[in-house]
Amino acid sequence: MSDQPDNEKQIWAHVQKKIKEKVTSQQFTTWFESLKLIKFNVDDAYILAPNSFCSEWIENNYIDVLSSTLGEVTNARYKKVKLLTESIDVEEKESTPSVQSNEPLPKEKNRSNINKNYSFDNFLVGPCNRLAHAAALAVSTSPGTAYNPLFIHGPVGLGKTHLLQSICLALQKRSGVQKVLYMPCESFVNHYISTIKTGDWNRFRNKYREIDTLLIDDVHFLANSQSTREEFFHTFNALYTCQKQIVLSSDCPPEEIPAIEERLISRFRWGLITRIDPPGFETSVAIIQKKTVLMNMEISYDVARYLAEHATSSVREIEGTLTNINKYAMISENKIDLDFVKQVIGKPTKHKSYIGIEEILGIVTKHFGVQLSQLHSKRKLKSITLPRQVAMHLARKLTNLSLEEIGGFMGGRDHTTVMHADEKIKNLRKQDRNISATLRKLEATINKQHK
Ligand code: ADP
Ligand code: MG
Repeated sequence: MSDQPDNEKQIWAHVQKKIKEKVTSQQFTTWFESLKLIKFNVDDAYILAPNSFCSEWIENNYIDVLSSTLGEVTNARYKKVKLLTESIDVEEKESTPSVQSNEPLPKEKNRSNINKNYSFDNFLVGPCNRLAHAAALAVSTSPGTAYNPLFIHGPVGLGKTHLLQSICLALQKRSGVQKVLYMPCESFVNHYISTIKTGDWNRFRNKYREIDTLLIDDVHFLANSQSTREEFFHTFNALYTCQKQIVLSSDCPPEEIPAIEERLISRFRWGLITRIDPPGFETSVAIIQKKTVLMNMEISYDVARYLAEHATSSVREIEGTLTNINKYAMISENKIDLDFVKQVIGKPTKHKSYIGIEEILGIVTKHFGVQLSQLHSKRKLKSITLPRQVAMHLARKLTNLSLEEIGGFMGGRDHTTVMHADEKIKNLRKQDRNISATLRKLEATINKQHK
């Protein structure tokens, strides 16, 4: 089954080359390198994945890029991709003591990827994060007993990672014997994948089950893979039964993690679930003051207020603004007073150019690997309707164009079609994590060009 005919081999080499340009090199080596095209006809392409985990992941995350690239290479016809796997699957491998592969073990950064600045001392407490902070502090003084698990959720850039790492730093400082493991969920997933390759499940399990406190950051990442969730569930149970502390963070509450099973949600509810909200004005001022002290910047209260008024939602953005101001001040040897700050942060808005629909179309077609003519066409393939509707939604959101005008740019569509597309994507955005991540990424790309 895994034999690859010559023609397929050539086409596949071409496809892989193109995919390389569309994804990061790490994504490419992790997901695409080991795939093979084994057969294709007018409508379908059969791709062989090394294991079911990989095929599931491709299915959930990269199917669009895969099918559109195949389409491009095999004559602009969008192909339906069928993923096949070699017959070995995870359970089988597990029960047969397997030959160790020579592949290097995953790069696990765990303990060393703790940022020393992410301490409780450097975390500013306000109404938006008071409970999360108090719970994190309690966990760091009595792990395994205070709140187990502790689940912190909230939008990006509001200090979840900071709090998780504060717990690590505090535990490590207090007791040398506590085995603490902090790990982004993505690393857990990567470790799981590489264990599928090596088959060394004992090693995998021992790693997690021997520790006293396990902190997994961004567990919404589990949405992408059922088999990893399964393994995570067992890890969770093993630790919990021994009263080991578990701390988790996510960008949404447990029940909103797409595809997550009820049994995991209910485990998360055994402990404390707490949310971090965006800082209000006073907290923003306080955060700005704290950060500027850490950055050795001197600013007046007026400047801090002005920045807080103009700061948007996240602390990460506040930090970015401060870094910029500091940089400009150093370059221009200016004092950081209100005028200077207005000039610096006022600049981008003054010159903020308007976002055009052509640009949105350019970014959307590039991302989904489709042609503009396909968006204009009347074709109803999902692989084309999705980018088409995404483009209409983004045009509604980011430009001042009317429904009719957008319809005009979209191959002469009716204004009700635009309205419908916009509604549809808005709803999908709420329900489907992959879509909402894609949209966020596209918007960020567009906005970046208008800073
Ligand atoms: P998240 O994990 O929620 O996306 P991070 O923990 O990475 O966010 O926080 C983003 C940045 O903002 C970090 O540099 C962090 O130190 C800082 N930060 C967030 N909240 C606070 C806070 N309450 N006090 C001080 N710094 C904060
Ligand atoms: Mg984080």
